[in-house]
Amino acid sequence: MKPISYGRQSIAQEDIDAVVETLKSEYLTQGPQIKEFEEKFAKYVDTKYAVAVANGTVALHLCAMALDVQPGDKWLTTPITFAASANCIKYCGGEIEFVDIDPETYCIDIDKIEQKLISAPAGTYKGIIPVDFAGYPVDIEKIYAVAKKYDLKIIEDACHAPGGYFIDSKEINQKCGNSRFADLAIFSFHPVKHIATGEGGMVTTNDKELYDKLCLYRTHGITKDENLMDENHGGWYYEMVELGYNYRLSDMQAALGISQLKRAAEGVSQRQKIADSYTKAFSEIEEIQTPVVPKNVSHAYHLYVIQVDDRKGLYEHLREAKIFSQVHYIPVHTMPYYKKQGWKKGDMPVAEAYYKKCLSLPMFPTLSNEEQQYVINKVIEFVSK
Ligand SMILES: *Cc1c(COP(=O)(O)O)cnc(C)c1O
Repeated sequence: MKPISYGRQSIAQEDIDAVVETLKSEYLTQGPQIKEFEEKFAKYVDTKYAVAVANGTVALHLCAMALDVQPGDKWLTTPITFAASANCIKYCGGEIEFVDIDPETYCIDIDKIEQKLISAPAGTYKGIIPVDFAGYPVDIEKIYAVAKKYDLKIIEDACHAPGGYFIDSKEINQKCGNSRFADLAIFSFHPVKHIATGEGGMVTTNDKELYDKLCLYRTHGITKDENLMDENHGGWYYEMVELGYNYRLSDMQAALGISQLKRAAEGVSQRQKIADSYTKAFSEIEEIQTPVVPKNVSHAYHLYVIQVDDRKGLYEHLREAKIFSQVHYIPVHTMPYYKKQGWKKGDMPVAEAYYKKCLSLPMFPTLSNEEQQYVINKVIEFVSK
């Protein structure tokens, strides 16, 4: 058996052809593939605008800039996420406060958000960054209702969930990152995620004004738009009107993204099939806690997370069998950087209890039946020892 990692990209011949085609074209960066990728991605997640960027982390930074995060502004996020979800507010000088997770969904606990908002003076908090953890669509409709009441902005970190959705209270299908209940949403195209472009990311929104800001900040704050410029000296002329960055995606990467997108929906159903097999195989085994998925939710399964008491033992047992499971995540508030800001172990009891037991098993569309059975056997072999 070949080594099996927890996640892995799938690159088909058509992907390779698409990139080679772009290499032979006029443009390597800022060419026609970017626009096409943005339009097709927007359609895939059911939103109006999409802005392709260099990675998911800068997507978050651009969101914080577009929503005008100022020094001292306080935003809320979950401790069970990749650090970048929190860091984007720090980039702009703002402050992050963590809110504990829901023990069933592993996403931010919405009741705890509300408790925090009720007990703080009006205007204390400026925004929330919910995460569709592991591919579970966070109940963003409910978060939106709370955020409206307290005048908070929302950036949905949908890195784990392109293709996931939930049925809302009006029976409408809401795709993760569609920005119906958020100001902005973001995605990553890192190879362990659903769609791989090497490095890459996307911001989505339904708001034209935010869209324009994202485009401006993505490319140095430079514009050729007459309406934004003080002067115009001719065809060559541009003005730098804001302090922006070079956060662009290249045309080669966009070509890969377009090609990958064609198989994205199929990839999600494959992931769901794999998840069903795991859940079925472990259903009778008391020592293993499998994900809870309500009927109105279509989980995108970036990760398949189980909880077991001897997590370290299982991790090592699998490693010996060349199965490279992983832990998602070490709670962000216990990172030394955030500890320096006053956070400590014990602050987020549900997240910390979850962290002690969680393990992400191999989950990617090209995982074969044989490989999956091997993983299942090794897991069961360990827990029933
Ligand atoms: C991967 C990831 C990011 C960052 O994306 P990069 O493309 O690696 O910068 C942000 N948030 C979450 C939840 C992620 O999983």
